[in-house]
Amino acid sequence: MNKQRLGKYDILCIDIHSQLNVITLMIDLEREAGRMAENQEVYDVTIIGGGPIGLFTAFYCGMRELKTKVIEFLPRLGGKVSLFFPEKMIRDIGGIPGIAGEQLIEQLKEQAATFDPDIVLNQRVTGFERLADGTMVLTSSEGEKHYTRTVILAVGMGTLEVNEFDSQDASRYAGKNLHYKVEKLDAFKGKRVVISGGGDTAVDWANELEPIAASVTVVHRREEFGGLESSVTKMKQSSVRVLTPYRLEHLSGTDERIESVTVCHAASGHPEEIELDELIINHGFKIDLGPMKDWGLEIEEGRIKADRHMRTNLPGVFVAGDAAYYESKLRLIAGGFTEGPTAVNSAKSYLDPQAENMAMYSTHHKKLVHK
Ligand SMILES: Cc1cc2nc3c(=O)[nH]c(=O)nc-3n(C[C@H](O)[C@H](O)[C@H](O)COP(=O)(O)OP(=O)(O)OC[C@H]3O[C@@H](n4cnc5c(N)ncnc54)[C@H](O)[C@@H]3O)c2cc1C
Repeated sequence: MNKQRLGKYDILCIDIHSQLNVITLMIDLEREAGRMAENQEVYDVTIIGGGPIGLFTAFYCGMRELKTKVIEFLPRLGGKVSLFFPEKMIRDIGGIPGIAGEQLIEQLKEQAATFDPDIVLNQRVTGFERLADGTMVLTSSEGEKHYTRTVILAVGMGTLEVNEFDSQDASRYAGKNLHYKVEKLDAFKGKRVVISGGGDTAVDWANELEPIAASVTVVHRREEFGGLESSVTKMKQSSVRVLTPYRLEHLSGTDERIESVTVCHAASGHPEEIELDELIINHGFKIDLGPMKDWGLEIEEGRIKADRHMRTNLPGVFVAGDAAYYESKLRLIAGGFTEGPTAVNSAKSYLDPQAENMAMYSTHHKKLVHK
């Protein structure tokens, strides 16, 4: 037996006669030493995306005793819920008749924390590489490397950016009384609000603001609205004034505030001026999977194709939540709450083919049994 040094590590070469084996061992140890020098542990699972599904998936990883890391691009957890509807009531999760978006995220964070996953914020994962030993290396746009044996993509539809209103005036009023999202409902209390847009977000905001605002007017360039039929019906049957097909044309006001907008009929061009206190614009989002599109994943309609085990076409890479594409996919939080655990069970089987294919009930888990 002889003893050699590799950096700060002692290497014990025990009766290794083949020079090749020694070199292979040296390379493996060197790689390991390199990772440790970068303070990079290898995780069992790395979840990309800290939205509601990433958070619940992190909890379930703990149930399966998997060493877990969550990487989120934004400075806070919560995904679209925290970003676009923190105060909206969510009423379509089984067993929860109604819960405000941010409250749901707080509860998901608490649940995820049960098993202490590592959380990394402010990093956008861009690079993907597979080493010879199967370890995957995720590189963030900030240049940090994350080593992992499996990956669960809970990236929604990628990073989100709002489509801003294309006018010089818009940039002048943004952050004053022109809003691209509704963070605090109270800010609109007693105000005359105009919402431009007709997607599900615009409809949701109209319904949320209608009981507290002085008035709500929705201006939409088409007759049809996006979103749940029940939400559209609720909006149309409420005091919300719905102007279709109209498009937002012009903003007028002082240097500080928009005082009115001009909207025009989409066909005749007939203009109408509407006085307001607050203008909300929801003209959709630029959604981008970014460099992930070049990882070799099969992508359909901007989402990542999954089989019924939530496996992607890349071995060891799984998907859950809005990011997933398969027939009859339910684009609701409730759908992702099933896909996350399914993806985790698949990751567990990938790592340990002998493992049970699902966890025991949480009630019996040793960490939860005394709670
Ligand atoms: C206005 C509105 C109202 C809604 N209302 C409801 C409702 O009432 N009920 C319901 O069930 N659903 C509702 N939804 C849908 C719900 O928001 C989504 O189904 C849910 O957010 C999906 O969660 P997710 O974790 O899969 O994705 P997301 O919430 O989109 O989270 C994905 C996260 O991944 C991060 N990410 C993306 N790419 C990277 C990367 N490369 N590196 C690091 N991080 C990355 C993003 O920053 C984001 O935080 C609504 C959606 C909207 C827009």
